[in-house]
Amino acid sequence: MTDLPPPSDQPGTTQSATFALIRPVLFASGIIAMVLGALLLAHWANPQLAAKQVEPPVASSLALPEPEPPPGLTAADLQGFQLRAPEPAAEVEPPSNDRYELTLRLEKGDTIDKMLDDIDVPAADRKEIDEKLQVLLKKKKLAVGEQISLIIQPVPDQPDVARVLSLSIRPQPEREYLVLREDDGTYRGEEKVHKVSTRIVRVEGERQGSLQQSGVAAGAPSAAMVEFIRALSYDVDFQRELKEGQKFTVLLEQLVTSDGKVMHPGRLLAGELRLMKRTVAVVRFRPQGGADGFYTLQGESVVRSFLRTPMDASRVTSRFGMRGHPILGYSAMHTGVDFAAQHGTPILAAGAGKVKMAGYNGGYGLYVRLTHTDQIGTGYGHMSRLGPGIKPGVSVRQGQVIGFVGSTGMSTGPHLHYEFYRGNQPVNPLTQKFALRAALAGKDLSRFQGLTKEYLAQLKSAPHVGDVAPPAKPQTQTKAPAKPGTVPQLARGE
Ligand SMILES: [Zn+2]
Repeated sequence: MTDLPPPSDQPGTTQSATFALIRPVLFASGIIAMVLGALLLAHWANPQLAAKQVEPPVASSLALPEPEPPPGLTAADLQGFQLRAPEPAAEVEPPSNDRYELTLRLEKGDTIDKMLDDIDVPAADRKEIDEKLQVLLKKKKLAVGEQISLIIQPVPDQPDVARVLSLSIRPQPEREYLVLREDDGTYRGEEKVHKVSTRIVRVEGERQGSLQQSGVAAGAPSAAMVEFIRALSYDVDFQRELKEGQKFTVLLEQLVTSDGKVMHPGRLLAGELRLMKRTVAVVRFRPQGGADGFYTLQGESVVRSFLRTPMDASRVTSRFGMRGHPILGYSAMHTGVDFAAQHGTPILAAGAGKVKMAGYNGGYGLYVRLTHTDQIGTGYGHMSRLGPGIKPGVSVRQGQVIGFVGSTGMSTGPHLHYEFYRGNQPVNPLTQKFALRAALAGKDLSRFQGLTKEYLAQLKSAPHVGDVAPPAKPQTQTKAPAKPGTVPQLARGE
């Protein structure tokens, strides 16, 4: 009763209520005006200046009112995970879904616990997952390079905390170890034995538009095409070497049940792509005691110590070197390479290393600098936000998401400014050569050569995918709490 104002106060209350309503509007208008002003200035300022590594005071203050959406994955971000999405159709599914798939590679001296810690999985969850996994694996050791497929859901209000919904390891196609999160928040281990047989088929196509889509149109699963593109991307400059109409063939291993059901639409075994001046091929192989990976026909691992481009699906919009300034008329050094990509596209660590810097850095906007060796570093500018767990001092794996494409700092549109440092000097990232590839030898090499001979013959003679079965529909094989249609193990190797 005492809370109610006396009747005589009514008009006054109405008046102040009206003002209270208007106040935020006035405040918002002020903010909008500031942001507009900032945008206008940012538009004037041009990217070349950022490249000179000067820190213009204007740009630093402009970076503060970040006109970005709040943290948390949005549908646009998920679109960026093109290499992770099992099927293109998945992208147009429930927009409310904030969970995402992540495939990490076990490095030398690595543990699952450390891997999960790096992506900010809470300690209690890590402990339980690890315990369940130990029971499943029965002291079996995981090989370096083994793929760990995760389905992650960020914790509401704590975007830096990653909740693991499922973890899957599949050292052999027929054996899968799963740790799944239950509704009550506990974890449960499960070993799946896939009683299926394999069948080798071939998909032939011609590149029309994106290579991935061309493969899907020809009957290959999206995940296999993604693996193919990723295996080639260490060697092929898709910008310069790929043209419309170029032919490709991929060899797939399908998993089929005894009654002919396609359990897995096809794991990539080998693939061949004709380029303008050469033909490239990759072959899947698992050396004795090692992890499964792709190799050139000469038996060299396709994996380099650095990715050629720190993003999937991007195009170079500005190269390294002296660049004429369109407005001011003078030339300036562009210390990196610009890749245009959709806002929110994940940016990947080009190589394993440590985060040296993660934060606002003048004209670079939101910036991450990685140190890979005492001589080599990489820099990433204009991000919209940082990847989970990215802060100075933490270690990152090659291919780990360190941030998302944005347009912060002096930038005229969403793009990544990517730099490569050798002894603190910026060098052209696209021309760096890394002869740090593992080559097969001894028994592995002779086994590889035999297998390669077989695969090359099958690339020409295996039954065409369309001739053996009706269009393969991926089937959910696990009880992983994924969105409908998602088959976690298809993401393996992506
Ligand atoms: Zn740039």
